[in-house]
Amino acid sequence: MQSYDLAITGAGIAGLNALFVAAQYLPKGAKVALIDRRDRPGGMWTEAYDYVRLHQPHAIFTAGDLKWQPPHPPSYLARGDEVQGHLASCLARLRDHFELTEYFGRTVTTCEEAGDGARLVLDGGEVIGATRAIHASGFDVHPVAPLSLSSGAVVSTTPERLSAEDDPARPVYVVGGGKTGMDTIQRLAGRGREIRLINGKGTLFLNRTMLFPEGPARWLKAPLQMTAIRDCAIRYDGTNEDEAFDYFRRTYTISPTGGGEQFLLGILSEDECAAIRDAVTEVLPCYLDDVIDGPDGPVMRMRDGTEHPVAPGSVFVNCTGHLLKTPGEARPLLSGNGAILSITPRASVHFLSSLSSYFASHLFFLGTLAETPLWVFDAPAMMAKGRKAFYLALLNHGFLNTMILADALPLKALNQCGLDPDRWFPLPRRLAAVAHVTWHKKRYKARCAKTLTTVRDRFGIACAPHRG
Ligand SMILES: Cc1cc2nc3c(=O)[nH]c(=O)nc-3n(C[C@H](O)[C@H](O)[C@H](O)COP(=O)(O)OP(=O)(O)OC[C@H]3O[C@@H](n4cnc5c(N)ncnc54)[C@H](O)[C@@H]3O)c2cc1C
Repeated sequence: MQSYDLAITGAGIAGLNALFVAAQYLPKGAKVALIDRRDRPGGMWTEAYDYVRLHQPHAIFTAGDLKWQPPHPPSYLARGDEVQGHLASCLARLRDHFELTEYFGRTVTTCEEAGDGARLVLDGGEVIGATRAIHASGFDVHPVAPLSLSSGAVVSTTPERLSAEDDPARPVYVVGGGKTGMDTIQRLAGRGREIRLINGKGTLFLNRTMLFPEGPARWLKAPLQMTAIRDCAIRYDGTNEDEAFDYFRRTYTISPTGGGEQFLLGILSEDECAAIRDAVTEVLPCYLDDVIDGPDGPVMRMRDGTEHPVAPGSVFVNCTGHLLKTPGEARPLLSGNGAILSITPRASVHFLSSLSSYFASHLFFLGTLAETPLWVFDAPAMMAKGRKAFYLALLNHGFLNTMILADALPLKALNQCGLDPDRWFPLPRRLAAVAHVTWHKKRYKARCAKTLTTVRDRFGIACAPHRG
C-alpha cells in the first residue's frame, strides 16, 4: 500500500486551493497524492462547453494568490480553455514543493478514517494510506444530458455538443435562463437567427457593471462585495424572503428579461444584458415539459398546460443548469479522528467551493478546525426548499463564517487569499469595510446565527456550527 503525508481528491479549483494551502504548512518534499477522475487538472473547466467564459474578473479565480501568466487586462473574462490552462499552471507551480504523485483518470470510491489517519480506495481496488486527506470534490460538476423530447422532428442537444451539431439556419430554443443560457444566447447572437428563451420564473444576475466598476467608481460609491453581502444578509430574518429578496433584486441585480424570481450566483454586465435582450426573438415565461409531434407538426407542451407550435428542425439546447441539482455525498466537514477534511456543498463553509477549501484547509493544517465554530450548511437540500430562501440563507451563512474565519485565521492566511473579490477595490476602501464589520461584529454574528437557526427549524435542513 502506498502511503502519503496528504491525499487530495479533486483537482478542480477546490482541490488546487487545498494543495496551495498544504504548501504553506507541509515541508518541502512532503509526499502528496492528487487524485481526479478526469484526465487532467481544472475540474469542470476541462469539459465545459467551448463558449463558456468566467463571469468575474479572471485574477480572482485562482489557487491561493497565484497570478495569471501572462497577465490580461484586469476586467478580462477568461475563456474556459484559458481557465483550464491557468489551473493546470497553478498545479505546475505547486508541484515543485512536494513529492507529488498524480492519479489522473482515477476515481476515489472510498475515503474513510483508518486509525488516526485516512484510507482511500481507488477504482480497481488500489488502496492508499495517508496521514491526512482532503476530499475536495467541491461542486463536482457533470455535463448535462440532452432533454428527453418525444418529437422526432426537433433536435435536442446540450451546450457541450452545440458547436458540433449546430445548423445556423434552424430556430433555437434555449431552455433555461441561467448563466449557461445567457452564454448560449451570446454565442448564437448576431447572425439573424431566431432565438427563443424558455425562461421559467426568470433569473437575476449580479450587475457586474456596478459591482466590478472601472475607473474612479472603484474609489467612490460602488459597493464592495463584503458590503453588498452584509447589506442583503442582515435584511433576512429567516422568514421574510419575499421582502429581502426584493431588496436584493432592486439593489444589486440585472436581468435581460426585466425581472426574475431565481438567482444562482451568475454575473452579467449591463452591455451583455442589452445584447442578450436584442438577440432574443421571444421570451416564454414558463417551463417546458415535452415536445410532441402533433397533426400539424411539432408542439411544445408546457408545465402550465399551454401548447406552442414549433418549426420542424428547431434546436432545443438544455441549459437547465449543472449546479447543486443532485445532492451528492453527505460527509462531515471534519472526520471524527480529525484526519479528513471534506469540501462538499452538503457541508459548505462558503458559497464558493474555492473559498470553502482555501479557508477550511488553513484551519485543518493549523489543527484548529475542530474547535472553530464554523457553521456548515447543506446547500443542495436548501436549494430544493425554495430559491429565494436558499440564496438569502447562503449569504447569511457566508457572512457569518467570514466573520468567524477573520477571528480564527492568522493575518497571513487572510492576506494571501487571492480569491477575495474585494481585491478589485483600493486598499483604503477594503480596510474601511473590514473596520465596519469588525466594529459591529458581535451584533452581526448574533443576527446571522439567529436567522440561520430559524432557517434550519423552518426548512428542516442541516445548518449548524460543525462541532466547535
Ligand atoms: C457552466 C458553468 C459555468 C461556471 N462559471 C463560473 C464562473 O464564471 N465563475 C465562478 O466562480 N464559478 C463558476 N462556476 C461554478 C464552478 O463550478 C466553480 O467555480 C468551480 O470551478 C467548481 O470547482 P470545484 O473544484 O468545486 O468542482 P469541479 O470543477 O467539478 O472539480 C471537482 C473535481 O473533483 C473530481 N472528483 C470528484 N469526486 C471525485 C472522486 N470521488 N474521485 C476522483 N475525482 C473526483 C472531479 O472529477 C472534478 O474534476 C460555473 C459552473 C458551471 C456549471
